[in-house]
Amino acid sequence: MLVGDAGGFADPISGEGLYMALQTGIYAAQAVKTQEPKRRYLQAVRPLLQIIRDGRRVQKLFYHPAVHSRLLHRVQGNSRAVRFYFDAQVDDYRYTYRQMHKLYKDYKRSR
Ligand SMILES: Cc1cc2nc3c(=O)[nH]c(=O)nc-3n(C[C@H](O)[C@H](O)[C@H](O)COP(=O)(O)OP(=O)(O)OC[C@H]3O[C@@H](n4cnc5c(N)ncnc54)[C@H](O)[C@@H]3O)c2cc1C
Repeated sequence: MLVGDAGGFADPISGEGLYMALQTGIYAAQAVKTQEPKRRYLQAVRPLLQIIRDGRRVQKLFYHPAVHSRLLHRVQGNSRAVRFYFDAQVDDYRYTYRQMHKLYKDYKRSR
């Protein structure tokens, strides 16, 4: 079982890997206690793999020079928006990268 960075568990957008390293470590520890560790581990990490797959798709758009500079310009000085994003997304993945529009809507609604 590969966990954390060794398993490629890092967020393609933020580069953060601590959450996934801890999470996959917990999943691995839980899986080795079962009769089918490989199956249990692969099943447990599926949602994280989906986040990484989706993030890789969004990554191309997010880091496109034209898009990225506009985005940075919009959030610059807007600590509320940045905090909302970090609390909702980076801290505990309340939204997947497929749900970015929902995150934006919820942020607008929270203002
Ligand atoms: C500069 C930098 C800043 C970062 N900032 C953030 C951040 O702000 N937030 C965030 O979420 N993530 C951040 N990350 C990513 C995060 O640090 C990693 O994703 C996370 O530490 C991965 O944990 P890990 O346990 O998989 O690997 P590691 O933390 O790299 O642990 C692997 C350990 O194995 C040891 N090791 C390697 N080979 C052997 C061997 N042969 N025998 C024994 N031990 C060995 C290493 O010394 C190391 O201690 C950052 C990474 C870098 C490089």
